[in-house]
This record gives sequence, structure tokens and C-alpha cells, in this order.
Amino acid sequence: MNKFECLMCKCRQSSHIHNRVRDNGDFSVVACKQCDLVQLFPSPLKTALESFYQNDTQAKEAHMPSDKERIWQKTKSDNLRRWHMLQPSLRNGDHILEIGSGYGSFLRAVQENKGDLNIQVTGHEISEPRRKVASAYAKVFSDLELRDLPHNVIFSHIVCYHVLEHVLDLEGFIENIRKFCKVNTKLIIEVPNVNDDMLRRCSAYSQFYWQSAHLTYWSVRTLELFLSRLGTQHIKISGVQRYGMDNHDHWLKTGKPQYACLASSGSITSKDRIYRQKLIDNLTCDTLYVECNLVAN
Ligand SMILES: [Zn+2]
Repeated sequence: MNKFECLMCKCRQSSHIHNRVRDNGDFSVVACKQCDLVQLFPSPLKTALESFYQNDTQAKEAHMPSDKERIWQKTKSDNLRRWHMLQPSLRNGDHILEIGSGYGSFLRAVQENKGDLNIQVTGHEISEPRRKVASAYAKVFSDLELRDLPHNVIFSHIVCYHVLEHVLDLEGFIENIRKFCKVNTKLIIEVPNVNDDMLRRCSAYSQFYWQSAHLTYWSVRTLELFLSRLGTQHIKISGVQRYGMDNHDHWLKTGKPQYACLASSGSITSKDRIYRQKLIDNLTCDTLYVECNLVAN
């Protein structure tokens, strides 16, 4: 019988959150009684996770198109938004490392929008099929290549968009990227928000939300706790609402996801803008965006 051990604080007591995840009856969802981190129970084995990503299982389940241009169209609005959020902190000579580049849409957003700014962007991706696609836009390291990178390769920005929730060894993850930091390297993390308002409003959404690929589910409080325990500084967390009113109405009416209309497609009505802003103001939006300084060892 598996015993619970919190992935963040190693506490052995948990409280029940949800009976099962959408794609696997072997897992339930619990919250650590000490730090509140919501997580899968039992934690998946490292070997099972490696095969999951090598086979690109999550992308297949998320109905991700196989064609490079269609992937870009589907993920463009999120990645342009990420670029616009990052851009004010960039200076000539900066070098961005993206952990978990997927099919490289953020790498493409940087390359196509940096203009006269003299910056470099490098990716990292564990799945080989994804790495192949992403390499069209920038150099993309495998896990092994990143691990073997000399310590004098330094990045000014390390960005992780929807990566942390897939990580089993949370502390090891930060330690591994810390070796590529200089003083004040900026760390950007984007994750789903476990206080997403739709979890409360729509039971079908809640059934769908919990999934075996997401090992942890973060709130402002658990993110602050995690990052301050690891000695990061100047932690600033804000909300992002990726999905709009149409998507939420579709969920409430049909109880099903709206695959054809993932995220915002560009034009947002003023009513939708007000709706999204209210969720952001209450931090019950679907996504959290963290900026902090990762202090070098
Ligand atoms: Zn804990």
C-alpha cells in the first residue's frame, strides 16, 4: 500500500480532494495537510512519466494537430501574450532559456517579434517528436544535453510555461536550472490555477480538470511557499485568464471541452474582457503567472 509523502514538504498527512483523474482510475487527488499543495496520489513512477512524454501522449490526448503551421495557429495567442509579458524586462544581450518548449511556439514568437533587440532564445524539450518540430525555430536541448551544458553558459531569463505541474522532483527541478543563473536571473513560471472559478461552477469541468499528466495543482499560496523555500527573491504573482466566456458557456451548456476554440482567438469583446478581468482580480482565473529572481548558488 502506497503511503502519501508531499512532493513539496514531505509531510505524510493529506486530505481528500477528488476521487479520480479523467484518464486514469488509479490516481486520486489530495492536498497536503501541512503546506496545502494539491497533488496526485500515489505519485507516478519516474519511468512511467518518461515513457508518457517520449510517446507524446498528452499532445495526442489534447487533440494537438500534427502539422507545424496548425500547431502555431492553435498556440499563437498564448505565446504572443507570453512574449508581450516578458518583453519589458528584456535588454540587448539577454539570453532566454525556455524549459519545456513543446513544439516551439514560444521560440517562434520570440524570433518573429524581437525586432532590433539583440537577444538569443534557446529551448529545452524532453520529447523527441516535439524537439524535432521546435528545432525549426531555435537550438533545442534534450534533457541530457541540458544536463551536460557547461556551467559557464548563463541565461538572463529562464521561462517555464505549463511545466511545473508535470514535475515530480520539484526541488531538483529548480536546482538543475539554478546552475545556469547569474545574479538576478529572472525566472518565469506559468501554471494552471487550482482556485479556477470553473471548478466550483461546473462539475463536468471539475471531472475533466484533474489529469494524470498534472502531478501538482498550484495556488498563489503554494507557489509563494515553494519559491521562497528555494530562496528565490522578489516573487510577484499575477493572474491570467486564457479562456473566455464562450468557452465557459460551452462547458456549462454541454459539459464538454471546446477543442475547436482553445484559448482566446484574438478579438475579445468588451463583455468578455470585463468577465476575464473580474476572475483575474479575484485570483480565481484559470492561470497564474510568476516572476521572481533566481539567485545563483
Ligand atoms: Zn506539503
